[in-house]
Amino acid sequence: MYEVKNKGRDGVILFNDELSQRVESHLKIERNLHTALANNEIYLNFQPQVNLKQELIGCEVLVRWNSKELGSVPPDIFIPIAEQTGIIIKLGYYILEEAFKTFKAWNDKGLILEQFSIKISMRQFFHYSFTLDIGRLCQQYLTKDLQKKIIFEMTETFLAEDINKVISVMNGIHNNLGIRFSLDDFGTGYSSLSYLQQMPLHELKIDQSFIYDLSENNKQMILIILAMAKTFDLTVVAEGVETDEHYQFLAQSDCHFLQGYFYSKPLLKESFEAYYQKQKDS
Ligand code: C2E
Ligand code: CA
Repeated sequence: MYEVKNKGRDGVILFNDELSQRVESHLKIERNLHTALANNEIYLNFQPQVNLKQELIGCEVLVRWNSKELGSVPPDIFIPIAEQTGIIIKLGYYILEEAFKTFKAWNDKGLILEQFSIKISMRQFFHYSFTLDIGRLCQQYLTKDLQKKIIFEMTETFLAEDINKVISVMNGIHNNLGIRFSLDDFGTGYSSLSYLQQMPLHELKIDQSFIYDLSENNKQMILIILAMAKTFDLTVVAEGVETDEHYQFLAQSDCHFLQGYFYSKPLLKESFEAYYQKQKDS
């Protein structure tokens, strides 16, 4: 059923070997995902973000799952399954709670960042208790000043939903708690200029596909995105910065912040702390 729906509903699909294997693997992941949290198999990574002087300014939280039965399962495999099955509600809450706790603990021990980004999935965002949950978690773990440094990353796919609802939830969270919003994977999806103007956005993240292949076309796209962001007064983060050539182009073009393997892969909490210390000492 999901296969047909993915192809645009109202279709017919032949149930062959390949599909049967895919369904089986999907079911295995789903079954194990149900117990992953209780078994402490889920943890967080933190990927550094730097400014044009290549100084550490923040990080993005990325979830990891090391399953006892399946080994390490990548998030682009299990997050969509967590979304389809609704497990994302519990999982998303856990990610937020762990992320807030870490951010507070870092701040308490003098590891100070300008911003701290957490991905929000669509089903999580539209869940009836999302705003209440965020308020409760803020009260429990953060101060007003720390809340202002939190950035929720959402993708352009949100914009295919009820845009008025999206804007009203964003406004509620921003106005009451100070949390800001970023549009992730920008340039690949549905964004229209009018949405950009209406949404209370603070940041755009240029999708890594533009940076990975720095063709003339993609360079033009990046320049257009940067010019547009300037008009709307948005900060821009380039993702997937892997080489000095990438850095040189983005620095010349006045992109604000950079993230990618050129600086660091996503790191475990302790390794991020060591990375911070090394930057401070240098
Ligand atoms: P995404 O939003 O596109 O995340 C960026 C991915 O690019 C991450 O993969 C990151 O590790 C990887 N990356 C970072 N720098 C570089 C680079 O320089 N080169 C290359 N080739 N890759 C780089 P990851 O962590 O495997 O996550 C994959 C996807 O899973 C994410 O794509 C996102 O859609 C989802 N995801 C990961 N963590 C979370 C989370 O906490 N919540 C939600 N809702 N989704 C998540
Ligand atoms: Ca991204």
